[in-house]
Amino acid sequence: MNEGAQKVRVAVLGCGVVGTEVVRTLVEHADELHARTGTRLDLVGIGVRSVATPRDSVVPTDLLTEDLTGLVRRADLVIELLGGIEPARALILEAIGSGASVVTANKALLAQHGPQLYAAADDARVDLFFEAAVAGAVPVVRGLRESLAGDRITRILGIMNGTTNYILDEMTASGLDFETALAQAQQLGYAEADPTSDVEGLDAAAKAAILASLAFHSRTSLADVPAQGIRDITPADIDSAAQTGHVIKLLAIAEVGRYDGTPGIAVRVHPALVPTDHPLASVRGPYNAVFVEAEAAGTLMFYGAGAGGVATSSAVLGDVVAAARNVVNGGKAPSESAHAALTSMPPEAVRTRYQIRIEVVDRPGVLAEVAALVAGRGISIETVRQGAFDVDDVAELVIVTHEGSESALAATVVDLDTLDVIKRITSILRVEGN
Ligand code: NAP
Repeated sequence: MNEGAQKVRVAVLGCGVVGTEVVRTLVEHADELHARTGTRLDLVGIGVRSVATPRDSVVPTDLLTEDLTGLVRRADLVIELLGGIEPARALILEAIGSGASVVTANKALLAQHGPQLYAAADDARVDLFFEAAVAGAVPVVRGLRESLAGDRITRILGIMNGTTNYILDEMTASGLDFETALAQAQQLGYAEADPTSDVEGLDAAAKAAILASLAFHSRTSLADVPAQGIRDITPADIDSAAQTGHVIKLLAIAEVGRYDGTPGIAVRVHPALVPTDHPLASVRGPYNAVFVEAEAAGTLMFYGAGAGGVATSSAVLGDVVAAARNVVNGGKAPSESAHAALTSMPPEAVRTRYQIRIEVVDRPGVLAEVAALVAGRGISIETVRQGAFDVDDVAELVIVTHEGSESALAATVVDLDTLDVIKRITSILRVEGN
C-alpha cells in the first residue's frame, strides 16, 4: 500500500481482556488514529473462539468471526491477542505470508518461536511489533530496540511480573504469608485462578528472554532462562532481608559476561534481596520496572503498569500506529538484530552474592567452623549476623557473601550439610542490585 492509501484493513484476533480494549480504541478514537497514521484504520473483523459469547457493547458484533484464517487473509495489519502458541503462531505466519504486518502481545509465543517469526517477517518485508509482550504499557521494547540501539547494554534487572510483585509487596508491607497474599491477589484480579506461570517465574522468564535478545543482539529463548519462583519465600525471609536493609523482589536478570574466556549471556529469574535504596525496591504492588545498565547512558529505569486490558492496549496501539505508518509509506522497521550471536553461559558460571540462613548448634566455635568451610570453597564472607531465632540450644546465623560463582555456592551447600553443628539450611537467596 502506498502514500495516499485510503485505508489500512485491520484484523484483531482475540476479543478478551486486551482485545476488547484495543477494539474500543480503534472504534472510539478512529479519527485521531487517522490523523496520526495518515490513513483510516478499517476494522475488518475480530476473530474469536465463539461468536456466541456475550461481549462489551463497544464490540461491533457483525465483525465477529470464528474463521480466523479467512480474516487474516483479508487484512493489511493483523493484531494477535489470542495468547498461547497455536493457533497464534500459524495465524501470524499466515498473515506475514499474505503480506500483512503483525502486532502481537504474545510473550509465550515470541520466547519460544521468535526467531522463526522474525525471519518470516523479514523475508516478507513486513513489520512484526511486540511492545505489549514485555511489561504491558511500559515502552521498554522500543527503548531497547530504538533509543538504545547505538549504546552497549551490559545488564538488565527487571520486575516483569506484577502478580509476584504484588504478593511479595503484601508479604513485606502487611506481614502476610505467601498463600494468604496469593489468595488476596486472586480476589483483586492480579493473579489468575491457576497462578503457576506467574509464581514459578515462567512468565518473567519469557519476557527476560525477549529483552535479552533485543539488548544483546543475540538469540535467547525461554529454554536458556533458568527460573525459580517465589512459593518458598517465607515471612522469616522477608524479616531477615529487612534487618539488613533489603526487600525481596522476583528479578529477571540478563547480563553479558565471560565464561572460559568467551563472552556470553546469562539470563535468569529468581527471588533476590534488593537494597531498599535501589530504584527497584520502590516498585510497589502490581507495577513493573526494568532497570537498564548501559555503557554510555549509565543507568535508566522504565516503570509503569505491567498488565491490565486498558494499559496494555496503549502499547498495542503504539505498535499499530507505527505499523500503519509503514504500510502507508511503504517502509519497514529494522529487522531483528542478532549480529552479536552471543551464546548462553552455563548457569553455574553466573556470579552473584548470597545470603545464607542456617540453624546451628548454639555453642562457642561454631561460627568459626562455618566461616572456615565457606571460605575454603572460595566464597568470601562479607558479614555474619546471629539471627533473632534462639531456642533449644539452636541459633540462627545469617551469612552474606561477597560475589562468588553458582558452582562454588552449590559445592559449599553440599559441604555445609555435612557439618554436625548445622541443624538446617533455612534459605539461600541471591543479593542483587549493589
Ligand atoms: P483473554 O482475555 O484470554 O482473551 C483471549 C481471546 O482470544 C478471547 O477473545 C478468545 O476467544 C480468543 N481465543 C483464544 N484462543 C482462540 C482460538 N483458538 N481461536 C479463536 N479465538 C481464540 O487473553 P488476554 O488477557 O486478552 O491476553 C491476550 C494476549 O495479550 C496474550 O498473549 C497475553 O499474554 C497478552 N497480554 C495480556 C495482558 C493482560 O493484562 N491481560 C498484558 C500483557 C500481555 P473467546 O472470547 O471466544 O473465548
